[in-house]
Amino acid sequence: MNKRDYYEVLGVSKDASKEEIKKAYRKLSKQYHPDINKEADASEKFQEVKEAYEVLSDEQKRAQYDQFGHQDPNQGFGGGGFGGAEGFGFDDIFSTFFGGGSRRRDPNAPRKGDDLQYSMTIDFLDAVFGQETEIEIPKDETCETCDGSGAKPGTSKKTCSYCEGTGQLNVAQDTPFGRMVNRRACHHCEGTGQIIEEKCTTCRGAGKVRKLKKIKVTVPAGVDDGQQLRVSGQGGPGFNGGPAGDLYVLFRVKPHAQFERDGDDIHLELPITYPQAALGDEIEVPTVSGKVKLKIPAGTQNGARFRLRGKGVQNVHGYGVGDQHITIKVKVPTKLSEKQKQLLREFAEISGDIPEEQSSSLFDKIKRTIKGD
Ligand SMILES: [Zn+2]
Ligand SMILES: [Zn+2]
Repeated sequence: MNKRDYYEVLGVSKDASKEEIKKAYRKLSKQYHPDINKEADASEKFQEVKEAYEVLSDEQKRAQYDQFGHQDPNQGFGGGGFGGAEGFGFDDIFSTFFGGGSRRRDPNAPRKGDDLQYSMTIDFLDAVFGQETEIEIPKDETCETCDGSGAKPGTSKKTCSYCEGTGQLNVAQDTPFGRMVNRRACHHCEGTGQIIEEKCTTCRGAGKVRKLKKIKVTVPAGVDDGQQLRVSGQGGPGFNGGPAGDLYVLFRVKPHAQFERDGDDIHLELPITYPQAALGDEIEVPTVSGKVKLKIPAGTQNGARFRLRGKGVQNVHGYGVGDQHITIKVKVPTKLSEKQKQLLREFAEISGDIPEEQSSSLFDKIKRTIKGD
């Protein structure tokens, strides 16, 4: 599914006001309205415009969209991965990824910091309803002692005399084809072009220190396994005064004992007794948002399905709420008292409703078993 950007659909900028969005919508919905526009793809375009407006006109949905984009809940980082993940995800799988810029041109130019990824394991219901939480991650921070320069306070850096501040050296080599000149990172200044005469004792000249940092994370309601959230500016520190990288929080949702999630829908298997199935009943059914009464009609079959509208999960992007689907499992008792057996035999005798599909030989066998001879 390759959806167009909603702002692009409406032809407005990302910081468009509510009025601008409304105006663009009025214009385009008129232009593509299937009653007016007879082109083949008009209704498709009309739907697209409508959908874009529904999201961008709603402050909350717009914020979600800005945060996630058209994130497909089925896309992710591969499945599974609950192994050993107990409690609230502090057993972090923490890694630096996208490894900010290995091609360095000007070694002293400002560069954005590294993006970081944090994998957070959350409980099923916390994913459904969202949660405010705090995570603690090891992060490189600009060293406060030297303000990131790496030089001991009061001392300064000097331009590397070997590379004359370029950070690169020309290395000449005689080959059978003549003299070749290669450019390499200067090893005297490690490619920075500057030499620290007296290193800062706090960071040993690195300009940054590793610290555990607490970061507030809002788990969005309706988030699903494998989705990730960008926390802007919470990645690694920028280089040479550049902006900090971003932190990506990847959610891993633990399975639930009863509920099974399918997008925004919830599936539940509901065991009932044979008398409940045959006679009908009104029973309480668990949903993610509490118990709900469900009427079981008389004669309900094993495998029958019921739907509780709107009792699923709130869509993470704000597109409505899913349903809960219930599959009935008629439980056959495995331990019977003498009295129960007696009553069932009587029941079998007077009802005699053995399905026609059963062969007569099997039928005879069952009758014999029931009579106990
Ligand atoms: Zn320092
Ligand atoms: Zn140098």
